[in-house]
Amino acid sequence: MKPKTLMESLRKKLLALDGKGYKAYKAISGEYGFSLGETRFRLSIDHVQGDPFALPSRISVWLDMTQARLPESLRKNTVRRVALEDFLGRALRQAIGRFVKGRRGSGCSGEISIAGGGQQVLVRNAVLISSQGVEARLTLGLPAENRRAAGREALAMFFDELPKVVAAGLYFDNLDAARAERHVFSVEDQHTLRHWLREEGLVAFVANGAHLPRASGVDDRPLRNHVLPFAAPDSLTRVVTLPNAGRIEGLGIPAGVTLIVGGGFHGKSTLLRALEYGVYDHIPGDGRERVATLETAVKVRAEDGRAIHEVNISPFINHLPFGRDTQRFSTENASGSTSQAANIIEALDSGAELLLIDEDTSATNFMIRDERMQRLVAGDKEPITPLVRRVRELYTAHGVSSVIVMGGSGDYFDVADTVIMMDTYEPRDVTQQAHALARPIEDSPPGLPPFERQAARCPGPQALDASRGKRPVKIDTPETGLLRYGRHRIDLSQVEQLIDIGQTRAIGLMIHYFARHYATDCRSLVEGLRRVMDDAEQFGLDRFSEYKVGNLALPRLFELAAAINRIREGEWR
Ligand code: ADP
Ligand code: MG
Repeated sequence: MKPKTLMESLRKKLLALDGKGYKAYKAISGEYGFSLGETRFRLSIDHVQGDPFALPSRISVWLDMTQARLPESLRKNTVRRVALEDFLGRALRQAIGRFVKGRRGSGCSGEISIAGGGQQVLVRNAVLISSQGVEARLTLGLPAENRRAAGREALAMFFDELPKVVAAGLYFDNLDAARAERHVFSVEDQHTLRHWLREEGLVAFVANGAHLPRASGVDDRPLRNHVLPFAAPDSLTRVVTLPNAGRIEGLGIPAGVTLIVGGGFHGKSTLLRALEYGVYDHIPGDGRERVATLETAVKVRAEDGRAIHEVNISPFINHLPFGRDTQRFSTENASGSTSQAANIIEALDSGAELLLIDEDTSATNFMIRDERMQRLVAGDKEPITPLVRRVRELYTAHGVSSVIVMGGSGDYFDVADTVIMMDTYEPRDVTQQAHALARPIEDSPPGLPPFERQAARCPGPQALDASRGKRPVKIDTPETGLLRYGRHRIDLSQVEQLIDIGQTRAIGLMIHYFARHYATDCRSLVEGLRRVMDDAEQFGLDRFSEYKVGNLALPRLFELAAAINRIREGEWR
């Protein structure tokens, strides 16, 4: 470790700027070697905020592996390393809570923070482990008193609080080794589980004993009281041996068309939601850490009002009023059914192998049309081919499975391979009873042309333009469900598997990266985005940011594509 400057020079600078104008803080940017007793690290002040109400300053600390002493076994492959990075991020956050005073004046004065902390374990750039050492990226609100630099307060942050946070959060010798192992091994098991699904011809697995319900509709932490643990019916029980947890049992959902039925408030949507999130790894204690879904599972829902560009929704929607083309369908304002059709087609185009659909968030006329309605409204007056007529063909002809929550119509009995009834939060296998009530299954629906796949399409330059006003690039992320990209306001609030604001931030940067590298000779959006995802895997998230930041999390291709598909302005080709 070769510090450019010693920590004493930072001390001098902070004392000298105490009481001066806030801009005087600019002088502290740079690198400093810290050595306080046993604690040795390199501090880098990467960006100094312009005023106390601006975004806090960005700092990073780097520890040599001889200091951090992270066990080789917990970082020997990518899966373990990412899990350990996540663990360290959480340890740092806890240490911040313990040692950082917080309020030291106006604006964000005195705050130290690190990105992350939700129920999922994501690839991030908040903590990065390499063979030589570990880097953690934090933000720090440089303290102000009446808009003047409070250098003495900053001194306490850098010389007292920060070293304590680093010592408690990054030195493995100070961490709970058993907990770290449990964290890493649990994540590894989830990966194994997800791979095992494919080998077994399953699309999802929910372990017995899992706790699925959440604390509230806006709180993703587990519900604590009166939870009925998950228990699979015998006929659908599968056994798997995980590398760390050993033998576990649970519900295996086979490929094909699966229906979840049951009375209202019996836990149908809770189960589906767990499957939606099963594409991600969860922290130990979450309750869903042994729930896994194919990583290509996509929740699709109705999303009226969204824009659609050049999407072939003809498998579902045809002969619209005024003879509008549905093979290359565009609209500024989709209806419930057209939006749900487009969401499905776009998901398939991005490589979805499992569709997750809940009646609660679907357009009724997209899901079903009963016989009496068919008699009243003649076929050529009804543009919609409901999903129930296409869902089997999606599986038999295209290998795309579905899990559909449907408590309100028996029409799906005809096309379902598996029917699970939720009964007071308990799943029961009612496939045989449902089939007894069904009409014979038809693999390809009579009188319908075969399901046509989406042709290649690309967004034009206007859609990908990141400029706003005088700034050539302006991208910001006010919340997880909202991305402001150039002049575009991209509403992602209905993209339900987008779960972390860090993913939204990364999506903004990745769109801009796509625009610069792969859009000009774009043959297909999805192909271009695959290259962006490959670059993310090869070079890491830092590839997309001009500055050193620690607040990015890796999105999936599906959510990245979803953002571009939802840009309102601009022509596509
Ligand atoms: P449905 O979709 O069948 O109408 P929900 O999945 O919305 O039902 O669940 C209804 C309520 O029951 C929710 O408040 C949910 O948190 C709760 N719940 C779901 N599963 C369980 C469970 N296993 N134990 C306890 N409460 C549960
Ligand atoms: Mg429901």
